Amino acid sequence: MNLPPHLTIREGQLAIGGIDCATLATRYGTPLYVTDQDRIVSLFRSFRDELSSRYPKVKVLYAAKANGNLAILRALAREGAGADVFSPGELRLALSAGMAPGDLLFNGSSKSTDDLSLAVESGVTVSVDSFDELRQLDRISQKKGKETKIAFRVNPAIDVPTHRKIATGLATSKFGIPHDRIRDAYREALACRGVKPVGIHCHIGSQILATEPFAQTARVMAEIVRDLVRMGVTLEFIDLGGGLGIPYHHYEEERAPTPADYASAIIPPIRDVSAELGINPALWVEPGRYLVADSTILLVRVNSVKKAHKNFVNVDAGFNLLIRPAMYDSYHEVVVNGRAGMLPSETYTITGPICESGDILASDRRLPPIGAGDLLAILDTGAYGFCMSSQYNCRPRCAEVLIHGGEAALMRRAETIEDLTATMQIPPWQKE
Ligand SMILES: *Cc1c(COP(=O)(O)O)cnc(C)c1O
Repeated sequence: MNLPPHLTIREGQLAIGGIDCATLATRYGTPLYVTDQDRIVSLFRSFRDELSSRYPKVKVLYAAKANGNLAILRALAREGAGADVFSPGELRLALSAGMAPGDLLFNGSSKSTDDLSLAVESGVTVSVDSFDELRQLDRISQKKGKETKIAFRVNPAIDVPTHRKIATGLATSKFGIPHDRIRDAYREALACRGVKPVGIHCHIGSQILATEPFAQTARVMAEIVRDLVRMGVTLEFIDLGGGLGIPYHHYEEERAPTPADYASAIIPPIRDVSAELGINPALWVEPGRYLVADSTILLVRVNSVKKAHKNFVNVDAGFNLLIRPAMYDSYHEVVVNGRAGMLPSETYTITGPICESGDILASDRRLPPIGAGDLLAILDTGAYGFCMSSQYNCRPRCAEVLIHGGEAALMRRAETIEDLTATMQIPPWQKE
């Protein structure tokens, strides 16, 4: 089995960051998300270094939506990361994690006037997604006597080989301004007094396992940059978004680009256009999944095994805690703790406790024998895992544990039944 260095197997037992999963499950209960902080930091450093060794000014903005736990934002803030934020909540968390407003890009295709006011007051850069938003932001910014830095989000119309729900750069996607209208957007922005266009932004999608779409995007962006500079736009940065994928298969070889491959794909068009025009913009990138996905496992306990149409393994977490398999048909490797590395004996389908037929974490997996009470680890659940969880079926969310230097601590306690009702109100006519 190919595992990242923070996951180890000894005598069939899986450990994360040097701590046995069985110990973690006993100490904190299941289901349980467990994250290795040192893994995230080491991926961040290598990612940043591969880019910085090829281009003079690089800023890595972690896409906070991938995993917005404050402890993770803090760990990355300490490394000098900024953040790509998509909501007032993410914006506030990134600031409270210690990130500087100048290192944040406030993104989104549907921002309210309250969202825009917060952005203006916080002094973050805004990625503007429509002409309508530009005019609103300009008005708000002028009213507050500010000049807000903006980039436009370009839709580069690039077909990306990934799941259709996570392709965001298609011509038909809801994100971005069509690239044939983008010059008009900058022209209008140059005439605004409340905003200043200083950057250009795009993001083509997620879990991309080829470098060509990134290279193609960089070429499209370089082409637009050439026109913008001629129009008199002074570009402080070119932001190429995130989307670098990771290998989710660990029992077989799955090829994935390295940060070096990624850097080699995106940098040449940007370096060339900068040299040609004599400009010096920073390169911004927004990795989410790549930095956090493999840092985390979801530990689940087997409630029962049922031989029916299939061998169903009923565990204590379902799409309430990990929606990716149900929503994106995504694949997460499963490890049977205690029998990790043993030869498979059966084909199992791992299902959760939610009242939906689609509540499946893993389908038709060849695994070692599984019985009630066993502990399973679902791998690579650090990105779009806990952050997409819900209380569906009135199940409180589970705890999240962080590991660093051989020590484990809670970074989020489990919710209780009281948490489920904490925001509910009894309407007056029901109070007698
Ligand atoms: C989601 C998102 C990212 C991160 O995508 P990953 O695939 O997790 O790297 C970056 N930028 C924007 C604008 C996004 O919406």
